[in-house]
Amino acid sequence: MTEPTITQLEPMPGDWRRALAVVAHPDDLEYGCSAAIAAWTDEGREVAYVLASRGEAGIDTLAPAECGPLREREQRASAAVVGVSEVEFLDHRDGVIEYGTALRRDIAAAIRRHRPELVVTLNHRDTWGGVAWNTPDHVAVGRATLDAAGDAGNRWIFPELTEQGLEPWDGVRWVAVAGSSSPTHAVDATPGLERAVRSLLEHRTYIEALTDEDPETYVRGFLVGFAESAGERFGGKPAVTFEVFPR
Ligand SMILES: [Zn+2]
Repeated sequence: MTEPTITQLEPMPGDWRRALAVVAHPDDLEYGCSAAIAAWTDEGREVAYVLASRGEAGIDTLAPAECGPLREREQRASAAVVGVSEVEFLDHRDGVIEYGTALRRDIAAAIRRHRPELVVTLNHRDTWGGVAWNTPDHVAVGRATLDAAGDAGNRWIFPELTEQGLEPWDGVRWVAVAGSSSPTHAVDATPGLERAVRSLLEHRTYIEALTDEDPETYVRGFLVGFAESAGERFGGKPAVTFEVFPR
């Protein structure tokens, strides 16, 4: 009997300078791909974060008015750990983010402001693979981001953006989706993994509400376990995986 061949993932494209990561909530990038972001900023690349919401509906024991500002602070701290200083919030309402032209326009505007070659987002598909159902916010923001990469380059889709001085940016070459169950590419997680752990740990209030486990044990177990299992498809190196949509 022969062993089934495991398809190996391609290394991520490296010829780019600026990335913009667009996700629904504080912690989406830290669960999804911050080891890769740490490696990129180490190499001198610029990465900025745009969050559709402040994650204000994410903690059962904290009312949104209190939770939103707290999660914003945790997000800024976690971004700083991996070398990201620009963090913007689009102020869509957590939990009920709607896919539609308002969201596409806000993301297209962010792409025009930052002019990235690489756009990163989180899994836009219905599930995480199998029967693990995704959340509607991730689906809406992921899909809108894939669409907005095109919208940003077309001056006639949201002409009001051009009137505001945001010139079209048709330079997005790839949209990389983290957390996809059909990845195509990967980044070596080794150099950034320790900072990824510390970056996710900055979401301490959220994590303490989520689990009774010691936060560091929980975070390390999750991120290291995920990177090691992804590594089976990346030459045995711990990895962060992406499904890459070239443009
Ligand atoms: Zn999320």
